[in-house]
Amino acid sequence: MSYYLDNQAAKPVDERVIKEMMPYFREKYANPASLHCDGDIATDVLEKSRKKVADFINAPNASDIIFTSGATESNNLALIGAALRYQKKGKHIIISEIEHISIHNIAKYLERQGFRVSRVAVDQYGIINLDKLEKLISDDTILVSITTASNEVGSLQPIEEISKITKQRDILFHTDAVPSLSVIPIDVQKTPLDLVTLSSNDIYGPRGVGALYIRKGVRVNPILIGGGQERGLRSGSENIPGIVGFAKAAEIAKREMESEAKRLQILRDKLIKNVLESIPNSHLNGHPEKRLPNNAHFRFDYIEGESLILGLKENNIAAATGSACSSKTLEASHTLISLGLLHEEAHGSLLISLGRTTKESDIDKLLETLPGIVKRLRKLSPLTPPEMLKKLN
Ligand code: PMP
Repeated sequence: MSYYLDNQAAKPVDERVIKEMMPYFREKYANPASLHCDGDIATDVLEKSRKKVADFINAPNASDIIFTSGATESNNLALIGAALRYQKKGKHIIISEIEHISIHNIAKYLERQGFRVSRVAVDQYGIINLDKLEKLISDDTILVSITTASNEVGSLQPIEEISKITKQRDILFHTDAVPSLSVIPIDVQKTPLDLVTLSSNDIYGPRGVGALYIRKGVRVNPILIGGGQERGLRSGSENIPGIVGFAKAAEIAKREMESEAKRLQILRDKLIKNVLESIPNSHLNGHPEKRLPNNAHFRFDYIEGESLILGLKENNIAAATGSACSSKTLEASHTLISLGLLHEEAHGSLLISLGRTTKESDIDKLLETLPGIVKRLRKLSPLTPPEMLKKLN
């Protein structure tokens, strides 16, 4: 395995989670819909898992959790489900400019279905502007969907303040909590969130399983129609091993998150300080303090992020230019453009995301390698100014 610094894209499944899941593949494999005793075992573990995931975000009722196939599906159920349910009340939805591509594409889909979508702007650090949000709200606004943190530049969003605004105006508030799930606790009783997207892999559980928290009293229409599982909101036989793994991951994350976030923040700060000091014309994207403890997002003048990733790959270091879900397009990241960066600036970016397996030696390896790669690429870049070229040669 490489020096793995791409935890935003995928995280390893915790050994303790795998152990917990194993019996549900071959020994306790029954369907919870079955009426026999094996079916009862499956129902029992399904409901115990629901309770553990509810506890993870301090949800008052286990039934507030609807299991899904992951964050994309939860985002679809939240936005499309709420839009369809409340369309008689209004047809206006607000998202932010820095949402994950899944939210952007769902919003475009809803526009094609006759809904009106506004996209609230962010400041130079990628944090949404609350005044602008308030100005966008109108009488027909039914839903605001804003992530807990940018999945690219890591800027933390003012979720507490947004939830107060939406509550006052009787508008639903959905947050995609995926970027911060492993490092910042959520308490839906302290913060009045109506809909929250959760994903198992983002807390070191298996991929392909997630959940949507739906506050009691909030209604959404189902988007998958079938046998009526999950209170009729998500049909399809439940993925019991996946759900058991997700619940175990939630239990571990709840216990270990605080100390882990502190450990990662120390490594992140070492990385940011050393990169900015050792590489001229390097910049940190996002807010210097109000950022995820496991995220460092850099920009290097005159070079392209893709070449940088290939240079790191030659040295067995795995990193990213931005969101994995958009990494194979040639377009500049919508998040970086919304921060006010020029296309050429947005193209010179590097996302380093740390996780439970990250060691100080991974950071040291990156710090040893990166300056040389940046220097080599700048020597080759037609954008490097002559005075810098002279110094490089
Ligand atoms: N939302 C955010 C913020 C994400 O980063 C991702 C990707 N990890 C998703 C949604 C989609 O997740 P998935 O591909 O697991 O459905």
